[in-house]
Amino acid sequence: MNAEDKLRYEITKCRNCEACKDLLNFSCLVFPEMFRLVDKEREAGEKISTDELRHLVDLCTFCAACPCLDIRAALMEAKTEYIDRYGLKFKIRAIEDVERIGKLGGAIPQLTNFLLRNDVARGLMEKTLGIHRDRKIPGFPKENFPEWIKKREKNIKAGTKEKRKVAYFAGCTARYLFPEVPKAVVEVFERNGIDVYYPEQGCCGMPSLLEGDRKLTVGFARINVDRLADVVEEGYDIVCSCPTCGYMLKNILKVGAHYSPEYRDPVESIDGLVKIPLYGLLSSEYSGFFQIPVELFEEMLKDEGYFSFISPRKRIMIAENTYDVGEYLRILHKKGELDTKLGPVSALATYYPPCHLREQRIGRPYQYLLSLIPGLSVDSIDGNYCCGNGGIMGFKHEFHHSSIKIASRLIAKIKSLKPEVLTTECLSCRMQFNQLTPYKVLHPIQIIKESYSNYQ
Ligand code: SF4
Ligand code: SF4
Repeated sequence: MNAEDKLRYEITKCRNCEACKDLLNFSCLVFPEMFRLVDKEREAGEKISTDELRHLVDLCTFCAACPCLDIRAALMEAKTEYIDRYGLKFKIRAIEDVERIGKLGGAIPQLTNFLLRNDVARGLMEKTLGIHRDRKIPGFPKENFPEWIKKREKNIKAGTKEKRKVAYFAGCTARYLFPEVPKAVVEVFERNGIDVYYPEQGCCGMPSLLEGDRKLTVGFARINVDRLADVVEEGYDIVCSCPTCGYMLKNILKVGAHYSPEYRDPVESIDGLVKIPLYGLLSSEYSGFFQIPVELFEEMLKDEGYFSFISPRKRIMIAENTYDVGEYLRILHKKGELDTKLGPVSALATYYPPCHLREQRIGRPYQYLLSLIPGLSVDSIDGNYCCGNGGIMGFKHEFHHSSIKIASRLIAKIKSLKPEVLTTECLSCRMQFNQLTPYKVLHPIQIIKESYSNYQ
């Protein structure tokens, strides 16, 4: 099946279901457009054209709010197939590699920051790189996280602790634009007597995956999988402070890996049955495994996705040993291992749980952790909202206004709560909030760090 056929197949399922017609009317641009095309097809008998399908695909931010995994997987696969077929525009190629931008922009941060505030330079950037001139770009710090952590290398050598040890996958945006976040992560773990090892790492690959750039995405994955599998074998738990990186390492990389001979053979040889993870096959809810005789699905179940030629054993190993930082701290607390000497933080905070956290199915660990802080009052946002930034999509000239349109309902909700501080663990959401609200925006780990330092 080619991209168009797969998409049409999934669109027919949605057409017969229609549950998302109203459900995602505000937080997603795909479904309103899809149902408009479906209605047109019904009324005028005009088949949805390839151009219309390509446009539909470009509207998806991969926020993962849609209930069925199949439609978003078909959208992403189609995007990738279109890029394989028609090539990637220079403007996308120039901005999709967030790590490269971080390194380039941070080489002489004063100059970059001057250019980012200069109207002529922004006009030029819009023409050449396609970054909308009104999109606020955060200033590049004098010292980024890799530089900061390098100075502390003595303290973070691998294997210095006997009990818990974590390897930190920090994410490009945090490393190069918001180093105060990963610094807070390191400090909170150290406060709890846990060494933080910072292994060499590349971009998690989500921005390029979202743009359909298979080659770049797989290149990142290859490097990360090898390095992270090594640290897991050395006894480390991997922790991520970015929900998108976590979603990539825990959920996306392992898709199909359970159907590979490398994983199946040892399992089958024990009980003659193949273990099928419920996640990703029947629904997007993770609820363990079921077992079937091998021959039933022999032809269907294959590890043939995006990352299939990277060791499935390593992909599963990484997925099973990766935690969101908040999730990890909540586990510590439940085991009575978290330092609870938390000082007061007097503030009225609004917490926004980002899309890719929801998709990890771990609840809201930071809401739990923030509730332990004396003096802090937290309102949280419930319901189907999305910030609309979608990785680098909100930066693009042609998507800037759509991105703001998606965010508008969330922003109105936040403003109605009149917070003193806005908190979310997603830095892409943070950039959108900095664009559209007057509030100070913090990662929850920064509030936890502040609480520790306020303890007397
Ligand atoms: S995504 Fe699933 S629930 Fe939503 S309309 Fe399509 S089939 Fe129905
Ligand atoms: S992933 Fe998000 S943007 Fe894409 S179709 Fe689903 S709800 Fe819409």
